[in-house]
Amino acid sequence: MKIDGIKIPMELDTAGAFKGPAIKVHLKLDAKPIFARARDVPFALRDAYAKEIDEKIAAGFYKRVDYSEWGSTTHVITKKTGGIRITGNYKPTVNAQMIIDEHQIPKTEDIFNQMKGCTVFAHLDLPVIASLVARETRKDQHLGKILQILQMESGQCLTRNGYKSPKCKYEISSGCITFEHRVVIPTKLQKLILHELHKAHLGIVKMKGIARSFVYWPGIDKDIENAARTCEFCAKHANQPQKCSDHYWEYPKSPWKRIHIDYAGPFEGAMLD
Ligand SMILES: [Zn+2]
Repeated sequence: MKIDGIKIPMELDTAGAFKGPAIKVHLKLDAKPIFARARDVPFALRDAYAKEIDEKIAAGFYKRVDYSEWGSTTHVITKKTGGIRITGNYKPTVNAQMIIDEHQIPKTEDIFNQMKGCTVFAHLDLPVIASLVARETRKDQHLGKILQILQMESGQCLTRNGYKSPKCKYEISSGCITFEHRVVIPTKLQKLILHELHKAHLGIVKMKGIARSFVYWPGIDKDIENAARTCEFCAKHANQPQKCSDHYWEYPKSPWKRIHIDYAGPFEGAMLD
């Protein structure tokens, strides 16, 4: 994948056999195997169906078995491009007898928080690696110079070299420049990081909050404001009224259980009721 001419390493987006550790499916205590009755494949699709199954077996996607206690029917979808896609209908068989792990979907802030102090950044579908930031920092016209100065002897002062911020605020970490513990993002990657910050449409305030803990570039606040202001989803988020907690008095069980008095004053040194 390429953004602004920068190659982002990504896994290939193709179906295939899972090569990781074995996956466990937790079944309910009273689960009983279900072998669903075979369904007829539409006559017109039979050849394509057989071919697809053979190909999937050859690719290691399916495995031929002689016997199974469990059996699910397949569902055939004809693709616009002409081919077919075979999916399994596990809903009435395996799914119904599984214990589903209920995991809360993590919030963006939590993910960023977990990343605090990490040198390798990885988003679920867009890995931005520290080495990429380091590489672009070296190549960056402005940051490249700062990096060189910081790498030189400790006596070097950025102010003397024409940079406004004092040297003590900048440090090198894994080849990246950090400014007050925030990773300084080179110009070329700013759009990408802004895109990541904006992904969850959290609105200006939250995006700035996350940025302040993790990333920095001159004018980042303005860029965040511009990104959020031109986005209708962020506007919706920002305009959501705060949840008000209604306070109401419990209904009294008998007369004179509670008295409310409104006071006015002080008037000539005394409260009026
Ligand atoms: Zn937005």
